[in-house]
Amino acid sequence: MSLARVSSPSLFSHLSSSSSSHLLLPHALIPISSLPPRLFNRSLLSISASFSSQTCDPSMETEVPNPYKWKPMCLYYTQGKCTKMDDAMHLEKFNHDIPVDLRINSSSLDKLRPQNLDYLLVLDLEGKVEILEFPVVMIDSKSMEFVDSFHRFVRPSKMSEQRIMEYIEGKYGKFGVDRVWHDTALPFKDVLQEFEEWITTHHLWNKEQEGSLNRAAFVTCGNWDVKTKIPEQCRVSKIKLPSYFKEWINLKDIYLNFYNRRATGMMTMMRQLQMLPRGSHHLGIDDCKNIARVLQRMLADGVLMQITARRNSSTPGDVKFLFKNRIR
Ligand SMILES: [Zn+2]
Repeated sequence: MSLARVSSPSLFSHLSSSSSSHLLLPHALIPISSLPPRLFNRSLLSISASFSSQTCDPSMETEVPNPYKWKPMCLYYTQGKCTKMDDAMHLEKFNHDIPVDLRINSSSLDKLRPQNLDYLLVLDLEGKVEILEFPVVMIDSKSMEFVDSFHRFVRPSKMSEQRIMEYIEGKYGKFGVDRVWHDTALPFKDVLQEFEEWITTHHLWNKEQEGSLNRAAFVTCGNWDVKTKIPEQCRVSKIKLPSYFKEWINLKDIYLNFYNRRATGMMTMMRQLQMLPRGSHHLGIDDCKNIARVLQRMLADGVLMQITARRNSSTPGDVKFLFKNRIR
């Protein structure tokens, strides 16, 4: 895939001199093919300006403040750990408004369908060997509105320190967020415990009753996250597979059955829907927000969200896929 590195030059100016522990390298990788044709003839600098102002996506369902200048997220803030909320320079450099990309137009509610699920939890894990990032964005299926988010970096449990250093440098160094990863990452077991407190606070789950989520479901781009990676990480971290990972919605299957078009990934869905991705592709929290934007767009187009995959309760390794027509 052909990629353009899109970055905001104004945001680079502070990087060389910054000794801040909040050092983040703001840039985003956007496939050239996903850019509107009128952007092709401009220089990358111009693309970056257009990208930052977000004025070039006529189909956008979400409403953003005007003037809107894209800024990288403060990844301490997304994890509830920012200590610089009174530092004006820091607030200017980094976004502390998580739902800024997820605001909706009231006019986009016209085709909304009644839904059986009240809340949709968009989840997009990062990390191939072990999970490195666990981001969740919660959307109200009846209003399409952002409700809350849960974001944690995850420290591998079966890797040497040396291996972790190399792994994180390779994965997050290119986004300039390896420092915040090292500052904040927690073992998977602790992350799940905090996540359980979060879903309990939102009345989506009850530890005593166990069972699946209450009138809510995970929404993932593919089956890998919940079907494969979560059980794998649970085995490595020596914990029991939690009951709320029993069923999920693969957005690609919903997309295929609703639009009658195949999309193999988030970028393809966004391209087909003429939406521009925001942030850094493969930074979990940014991907999660982009998938949430696709979901909001599908809800606005009148989709009915349904569970697409469910584990067999006696043999959790067996997964039943509920849609005949699905992405394999
Ligand atoms: Zn911050």
